Amino acid sequence: MIDVIVVGAGCVGSHMARLLAEKDLDVLVLEKDRAIGDSVNCSGIIGVEAFSKLNLPVGSIQNHLQKIKVFGPSGESIVYDPKEPWAHIVNRASFDCEMAEKAGKNGATYRMESWVEDIEVDDDGVSLTTQCEDGLRTFRAKTCVLATGYGAKFIRKVGLGNIHNCIQGVQVEAVVQDVEDVEIYLGNKIAPGSFAWVVPIGNERCKIGLLAKERGGELLRELLKGPYLAPRMQDWDGTVKGSLIPMGTLSKTFAERVLVVGEAAGQVKITTAGGIYYGLLCAEIAAEVLGRSFQENNFSAETLAAYDTEWRKILEPELNAGMVLRKIYSKMSDGQVDALIKLAKYDGIVPLVNKVFHFDWHAPLISALLKNQLKSWVKTPV
Ligand SMILES: Cc1cc2nc3c(=O)[nH]c(=O)nc-3n(C[C@H](O)[C@H](O)[C@H](O)COP(=O)(O)OP(=O)(O)OC[C@H]3O[C@@H](n4cnc5c(N)ncnc54)[C@H](O)[C@@H]3O)c2cc1C
Repeated sequence: MIDVIVVGAGCVGSHMARLLAEKDLDVLVLEKDRAIGDSVNCSGIIGVEAFSKLNLPVGSIQNHLQKIKVFGPSGESIVYDPKEPWAHIVNRASFDCEMAEKAGKNGATYRMESWVEDIEVDDDGVSLTTQCEDGLRTFRAKTCVLATGYGAKFIRKVGLGNIHNCIQGVQVEAVVQDVEDVEIYLGNKIAPGSFAWVVPIGNERCKIGLLAKERGGELLRELLKGPYLAPRMQDWDGTVKGSLIPMGTLSKTFAERVLVVGEAAGQVKITTAGGIYYGLLCAEIAAEVLGRSFQENNFSAETLAAYDTEWRKILEPELNAGMVLRKIYSKMSDGQVDALIKLAKYDGIVPLVNKVFHFDWHAPLISALLKNQLKSWVKTPV
């Protein structure tokens, strides 16, 4: 019997596999795709803290994020430059391959084209019914970690429910001239309640995307045809990739012999929908808890509950603050967003941002903004 089956060879699943294999556990990763990274849809922005804390591979870094130019709905813009990089921009498919390679070197085994369709937990282990190249197979393990990204239906089978609230993340890769820094676009016509981005990755290639509650693909095509990008657009193959991103967490991320990590659990920043770092951090916690449960040979829900408690202690203040900001921002008119950009330009917001902004931890900035002018200002119609 295998010790742990990890379902999903995304970055979080592979980090999990690596950490568990480092504990000398026998780990099998089941991945539905033919090759790692095949269905990736991501800008690949990962904060510098993640690289330094988690010893992440650096071979897939394409660029760095330092200066950001933010455009309000009227075109008014502000440049924010903290003078040093906040984040690295990776090729996500290559990054996931590097993560899998590290796990493999530590002893984890990968099985590609293995689509897990069903899960059964009994007194001795977990059975995963899996569609493989050679037909339907059942894999057995003592425990199982679900790292499937958002939306795997069989998670409901172990009584962990569903995350209903989600947002569309749509993206294209295109050749665009004159993009030196990351550009962010705000406004109800561009990305209602959210934002759009242009991220340069070298050789004039850019990732261009946006988040939206609905009509994501349509809004992105309008942005590409609009005055900001059309004059600079050199080449785009017409492909738009879209994915749903959870905006909330599973109410429970553990069951007997089972843990859920990463986007599948909803471990995603509510502000930006970035999920790589939070998922990796939670994988660290999950590996510790699972490691302990192997030492004690106890895989009960009560033992594994420590994982849920520990990650929520770290992430929940962030997720709650992000929800508050998203709620306020979604009610703002374009005039108010423009006024906020002006305010940021001429008032004291930039020094405040300099003081408390952190790429991965937004709650201190959100609470500082709310304590300052944002709340009263937003109430004033513009
Ligand atoms: C347009 C867009 C841009 C983004 N940009 C960023 C960004 O810049 N920075 C950031 O931090 N986050 C970003 N995100 C979010 C980020 O991509 C996710 O949070 C991250 O991929 C989550 O990693 P994961 O390993 O949990 O899941 P995934 O990366 O989704 O990996 C899940 C894996 O499980 C496999 N799988 C799924 N179901 C099954 C099954 N039943 N059986 C077997 N295998 C299965 C999938 O094929 C996949 O390989 C972005 C998202 C979108 C949509």
